[in-house]
Amino acid sequence: MLKNFLLDLIFPRYCLGCQEELSYSVENAQICASCFAKIRLNRGFQYKKKTALKAVLAAGRYEDPILREAIKSFKYQSVEALKKPLAKLAIDYLKKENLAGKFSGFVIAPIPLTLRRRLNRGFNQSELLAKEIGAFLNCPVVNLLKRKKFNFPQAEIPDWQKRKENIAGAFCLSPGFRSPDKIILIDDVSTSGATLEEAAAVLKKAGAKEIYGLVIAKG
Ligand SMILES: [Zn+2]
Repeated sequence: MLKNFLLDLIFPRYCLGCQEELSYSVENAQICASCFAKIRLNRGFQYKKKTALKAVLAAGRYEDPILREAIKSFKYQSVEALKKPLAKLAIDYLKKENLAGKFSGFVIAPIPLTLRRRLNRGFNQSELLAKEIGAFLNCPVVNLLKRKKFNFPQAEIPDWQKRKENIAGAFCLSPGFRSPDKIILIDDVSTSGATLEEAAAVLKKAGAKEIYGLVIAKG
């Protein structure tokens, strides 16, 4: 209690949405409850055709300013406190769409970072989200994929075709692993979908039969 009081005094924190001061005694001290409640969950999803991915499920939209700020802070400022609320959006989406039961027997695989980015950041945001979602779905989380080559951050490439080229050959199956039949790939954001597609193609080649993507926000 005293610790939170002192933290509030010395390092005041402000809501990413409305800039209101937030107390450290609040569990998610990055976004206030009323701003978080304003994040709208998506409805439904569409099955894809002619790709290794059956569908991409997205909890929210990247255009949503609060969600976008939350994801950026989580990723670039390593705000670990955002792990649970962001994962909760995906969990709430799965609950709302009655999808939790659909994924029994699936293995959850986070999209890996390059080693360099992983070391810079200290964590892989997709892996943190995957663990939370895995605990909810009761599915094991396995680092099935490994990053093979350096590529530029997809977010810095505007053109879809170029994104595809940039990410081509970026992943391989982790050494010593066999691909399970059913997989959910987890990433924080998907814009063009090129990263998820590339990862799914590698797993499909390795024998996977049913692959879904699940992201917190779709651009
Ligand atoms: Zn707020």
